[in-house]
Parts: sequence; structure tokens; C-alpha cells
Amino acid sequence: MPSLSPILLYVHIPYCIHKCHYCDFNSHVRGQHDWQQYERALLTELSHWATQPQFSGRQLQSIFFGGGTPSLSPGELIGSVIEEAKSLFRFDACDEEDIEITLEANPGTVDQSHFAGFREAGVNRLSIGVQSLNDGELKWLERIHSGEQAINAFNAAREAGFDNINLDLIYGLPDQTLEGWMA
Ligand code: SF4
Repeated sequence: MPSLSPILLYVHIPYCIHKCHYCDFNSHVRGQHDWQQYERALLTELSHWATQPQFSGRQLQSIFFGGGTPSLSPGELIGSVIEEAKSLFRFDACDEEDIEITLEANPGTVDQSHFAGFREAGVNRLSIGVQSLNDGELKWLERIHSGEQAINAFNAAREAGFDNINLDLIYGLPDQTLEGWMA
């Protein structure tokens, strides 16, 4: 590993509203979330890694908030992590708009004000977990959203100013046909 090559930061938000039966991610359902405590833990961990010789002095090329369901978290937490990352590492660009900062969003947990909060926090790319636009498939997957909610989430993200949006779609579900998936 070249000592000064840029690095990519992954930040995990491990909470979900419901544990989907197919999921093997590190995700957990909690009635209440102590976001302030989790924010402190993330900032402590960031400070720790920033002082390690293999990372010290290296630039950040991107940040990715994955989960779990990062869109459950307050925009203030996301903004605080981005600011801390910016102060501990140099960004591989003139300002944070120039490095890619992605947040995974569950269509069942967001509206335009949520998206606007993430945008304001410095997120410039969304990855929306659509998975399917077929309500029967979404039900089988135990997702908390409908196809219509997924489309609404995409439109809300656009209205909040996001012009870089990934949509996750699952292929290979039981009885799913290629034609159905294409549709
Ligand atoms: S929403 Fe995603 S991370 Fe959460 S349980 Fe479902 S598949 Fe897993």
C-alpha cells in the first residue's frame, strides 16, 4: 500500500426499523436510539484512526455512510462526522463538495426535509434502497416501504437538490423473472 495514497472512509450506522429476513448486515432494531452517544463513539473512533501511522497525513477521497439505515440518523450526526473527518484528514479536493459523500437511504424513513438535512450536512450522493418496485416482492423481502414510496423518495431527493443518486435493485428473488425485473 503506497503510504500517501488517498483513503476512503466507511461509516456504519447499525440501526434499522425492522430486520429483513434476508439481511446478513450488521444491523439491529432498537426501540430508542441514543444518537448523541453513537455520535461520540464515531468521533472517538475517527480520532483514534487518524493518529495511526498507516492513515496519518493521508487525504480522504470519499466518505460512505452505510448500514443498517443511515437515513434514520439525524442530519446533525452526519454533519458532525463529516466536519470531524475534514479536520482530521485532508480532503482530496478544495472543499467537501468535491469529494463524494454518500448516504444510504431507506425509502420508508425519509421525506424531503430529511434529505434537505443530509444535503445541508454535506452529503452530495444518495444510495436509495429501492430493491424492487413490485409490492409483492417488497413484502416478501419484508421491506418497510412500497414501490410508490420508493418513487416518492427519489422525487423528494431530487427536490432536495441531490443530482447524484444511486438506486439499489435486487435481482434473483424466488420466482422473479428477467422480464419482471426489467419492468
Ligand atoms: S433495511 Fe437493509 S440493513 Fe436494515 S435489515 Fe433490511 S436489508 Fe438489513
